[in-house]
Amino acid sequence: MLRSVLTRAVPQFSRLSVSRFSAAAIPAPNPQPEVHYNKLFINNEWQDAVSKKTFPTINPSTGAVIYEVAEGDKVDVDKAVKAAKDAFRLGSPWRRMDASQRGMLLHRLADAIERDAAYLAELETLDNGMPYAVAYAVAVPMVLKTLRYYAGWADKWEGKTIPIDGDFFCYTRHEPIGVCGQIIPWNFPLLMQAWKLSPALATGNTVVMKVAEQTPLSALYVANLIKEVGFPPGVVNIISGMGPTAGAAISSHMDIDKVAFTGSTEVGHLIQKASGASNLKKVTLELGGKSPNIILPDANMEDAVDQAHQASFFNQGQVCCAGSRTFVQESIYNEFVERSVERAKKRVVGDPFNLSTEQGAQVDDEQFKKILGYISSGKKEGAKLMCGGGAASDRGYFIQPTIFGDVQDGMTIACEEIFGPVMQVLKFKSIEEVIERANDTQYGLAAAVFTTDINKAQYISNSLRAGTVWINCYNVFGVQAPFGGYKASGIGREMGEYGLEGYTEVKTVTVKIPQKNS
Ligand code: ADP
Repeated sequence: MLRSVLTRAVPQFSRLSVSRFSAAAIPAPNPQPEVHYNKLFINNEWQDAVSKKTFPTINPSTGAVIYEVAEGDKVDVDKAVKAAKDAFRLGSPWRRMDASQRGMLLHRLADAIERDAAYLAELETLDNGMPYAVAYAVAVPMVLKTLRYYAGWADKWEGKTIPIDGDFFCYTRHEPIGVCGQIIPWNFPLLMQAWKLSPALATGNTVVMKVAEQTPLSALYVANLIKEVGFPPGVVNIISGMGPTAGAAISSHMDIDKVAFTGSTEVGHLIQKASGASNLKKVTLELGGKSPNIILPDANMEDAVDQAHQASFFNQGQVCCAGSRTFVQESIYNEFVERSVERAKKRVVGDPFNLSTEQGAQVDDEQFKKILGYISSGKKEGAKLMCGGGAASDRGYFIQPTIFGDVQDGMTIACEEIFGPVMQVLKFKSIEEVIERANDTQYGLAAAVFTTDINKAQYISNSLRAGTVWINCYNVFGVQAPFGGYKASGIGREMGEYGLEGYTEVKTVTVKIPQKNS
């Protein structure tokens, strides 16, 4: 039963079934895990904010305060940057460490996270509202895969020898950039932390990370593991705090050499501007999307309905690459919508600690209200509400799986990122038409096409301006494969070998070769 719920809940789950996590029975969670760490992690020490300020982190399933957490600010970021800069100084233990040893530390971190997987998944569910089954059987295993994948790269990220003209020996070195600021979102707190830390540390950088104010708890626990497994002081510093203060202090800091950000396109603009106005630090951005999911009439209907459902609703719809514009060819439109509504009505929404829950709570009151606002805009602008449309509980931030039919391209719900469990179904006639409409957006993060015709699949895939295209599947992530956006969906790529480039400077070294043996 549980297995079938998970298979339905998470499309890529079958891919993970080889991992011993998913094969093992999921242990019954403790819905009230104790919070051990609530301070700033600077130089391997726990510190209060200089201002002594704290902020409450909220349980989105109830609206109750879980814990008060230190609220870092510019001065705390300055302290963290100083520690990170010191850890990066020439001759420091971190700079002198063998690359293979850096890899070993990442492996040890993965082992410690695996040991504490159940507890970390409990914290994640408590703070974020995602189903425990997803936190434990999907998010944590992906964290482990990410850390271990990049652990392997630490001593394999090789430069080249280059046959330049003349009597010279020329080679490149892949060197760390230096102090990296990393600003992460709340939708997959542990996974986003691992996506950012792993390539940065594998390549020998030091890090000042700001975690999202909605979900600081799991990342702070991981900070403790970073210390436990033996990373030298200052290599990783973790600040909880607000975006416009602590986050902005990172993006405008003169001693931060690179900033990596995942979050909204709106804040992505601010980060890019702050870099330009300060020290031109390197910027990589993973931003929003309005990803098209194109269903052709020859697709396997059952599969397409199920995958489109997951594409829209997985993780409460709080996924940057959510398939939030489902384009369905007119000849199958009615059947597709009917079946999608049937599926959405069966979606199990509720207590995220219940192992049969498919959909938990939205992350906070702000997102909850924002999503309900989008739903009312859909109704006002003439889309047809097919199911859902309101809150799913009288407490906490639960929203009914919602489907809009008859959605037109210009409607707000077809243009803006909703980041909630709301599916937009749009009708199309021809392939040329749908390609043009699919590309008619400022975004370009992901896209998908469902068809049994390989030629059409390749033609559409090549025509879409998106960083990832899935064919007959959705939300399939391999740590080995790059992820990132075209257009306003981002700059650079994370994951895979490409992900190393964002954390590396390339140095060209040219040596004169004497022509006589004197
Ligand atoms: P969302 O709107 O989904 O919460 P945001 O882009 O606002 O996404 O947040 C993602 C991350 O960016 C969070 O860690 C947040 O604190 C941070 N952030 C928000 N505003 C700023 C800012 N002005 N400068 C830097 N970071 C910011």
